[in-house]
Amino acid sequence: MVGKMTKVVKFGGSSLASAGQFSKVGKIIKEDKARRFVVPSAPGKRNAKDTKVTDLLYQCYAQAEAEEDFKGTLKKIQSRFEAILNGLNMTFSLSGEFETIAENFAKKAGRDYAASRGEYLNGIVMAQYLGFSFIDAAEVIRFKDNGDFDAETTNELLSARLKGCEYAVIPGFYGARADGSIQTFSRGGSDITGSLVAKAVHADIYENWTDVSGFLIADPGIIKNPKVIKVITYRELRELSYMGATVLHEDAVFPVRREGIPINIRNTNAPEDEGTLIVESTCRQPDYTITGIAGKKGFVAVNIEKDMMNSEVGFGRKVLAAFEENGISFEHVPSGIDTFTVFVHQEEFEGKEQQVLSAIHRFAQPDSIDLEGNLALIAVVGRGMRSTRGTAGRIFSALAHANVNVKMIDQGSSELNIIIGVTNSDFEEAIRAIYDIFVETQI
Ligand code: ASP
Repeated sequence: MVGKMTKVVKFGGSSLASAGQFSKVGKIIKEDKARRFVVPSAPGKRNAKDTKVTDLLYQCYAQAEAEEDFKGTLKKIQSRFEAILNGLNMTFSLSGEFETIAENFAKKAGRDYAASRGEYLNGIVMAQYLGFSFIDAAEVIRFKDNGDFDAETTNELLSARLKGCEYAVIPGFYGARADGSIQTFSRGGSDITGSLVAKAVHADIYENWTDVSGFLIADPGIIKNPKVIKVITYRELRELSYMGATVLHEDAVFPVRREGIPINIRNTNAPEDEGTLIVESTCRQPDYTITGIAGKKGFVAVNIEKDMMNSEVGFGRKVLAAFEENGISFEHVPSGIDTFTVFVHQEEFEGKEQQVLSAIHRFAQPDSIDLEGNLALIAVVGRGMRSTRGTAGRIFSALAHANVNVKMIDQGSSELNIIIGVTNSDFEEAIRAIYDIFVETQI
């Protein structure tokens, strides 16, 4: 067996978009013998105007399904792979594979089958390029007949298959049902495959290689050159990701988290950067009190008032039932002695506004209901907040200095996050003020 360490490495579409990118990836893999199991995505965009191979495959299959001529689009996909092969001076040919794909498209083998061919072909090319074994994900990633992912069977199949294997490439994004029909995860699903492989081989680390050097403390669209988060816990990541920051597919976290396997987000274009390490728990103090800031615009606050509300058993349940009845999920529920506020997504709420209001009146007989729209929520997240005094105070004073009116502040009971409500128009300014006080001035 090689060394002691085993690393599973997943490469995203932009890391494999061209021959040039492929050779960067080859270098990264070869330079560390522990990088034994490789999970590739399909070739992604080479530049901002380019189309991902997965999207070309969806387009091509839609033509096949509509009985239109799909050969032109398929040829375009074939030439993307040929450009990679030629650029790498590989004489290997995929013509046979493309003939099979054309036949299966004509037979309408399914949309998921079509989409999965990007990863399948890229896996073949990658295995050939590296001299690793190729393992078709259809044989080791299993879905149930009802379409649900079958975690248990997958883990059995994968561990058995990879046990005797020193180096292998397993394409991301898809698997199959027991009858062999192909099914994919949702978009970006190669992250999940990587995580499943890491779990099955009890990897020491799951490296997820992409085109950024890790998670940033704040949105670069708002903060110029924000700092990278070096270490983040799974819980912090969850708090930030539900507010919109996504680098990693959400479902990729669960398989490795339960096994205590860290994920390292790395940059194929800057392999010297350490990236972000995602861990279950750490005693390493973060560089700043806060780990990250994320937020979203477009919320409505539904403020409900009723005298003596605090002594009425079941008031909260009755109010929330009005939202449930209308199929609306809530984001936050801060409350006072005689007030109860429900934050909901404006888009979801607007069409059902009056039904919800009348349901609240029917169920909970409040004294008044008042609506405030165009609000934004900002999550300030950090494990460092638990051991630091005055975090909320600093946020308040930073926002006051920036002339931002705070509509709501809510500290999660885990002391891991503070949620702040501001108007949509104050959103960017508020994030800048918070970033400044914790990261730039760092007192
Ligand atoms: N290629 C697929 C997509 O574009 C899956 C992935 O890249 O993870 O969504």
